[in-house]
Amino acid sequence: MASQQPCGGSIDLFFDRIVDVAGLYHLDPALVLGHVAAHEIGHRLLGKGHAREGLMRSPWSARDFERATLGLLLFTAPDVETIRGEAAACERISSSEPSAVIRR
Ligand SMILES: [Zn+2]
Repeated sequence: MASQQPCGGSIDLFFDRIVDVAGLYHLDPALVLGHVAAHEIGHRLLGKGHAREGLMRSPWSARDFERATLGLLLFTAPDVETIRGEAAACERISSSEPSAVIRR
C-alpha cells in the first residue's frame, strides 16, 4: 500500500527513545537510528501498516535487534519491489517539475 504523499514530507525520529532502546539491548545507537530511519522512510513509501517480518515489522523483538546487528533486518522482497516502484514514480514527478528554489 502506498502512502498518500510518498514523494515528499518528513519523518520524525526521537533520538532519546533511540538511545533508550539501544541501551536496553546493548546496541550502538547508530545501528538503531539507521534501522529506525529506514523503517520510517519505509512508511513514507509503503504506507502506515506493519509487516509480519523484516524491517517493517513492529514492534521489534530482541531477535529483530540481533538480526539488525548481523545486517539481516531488511525490507522484504515485496517491500523492495514496492519501494523501487514508488521511488521511480517520485523520480518521474520530480524530473517533470521545475527545480526547487532555495531562499535564505
Ligand atoms: Zn512503523
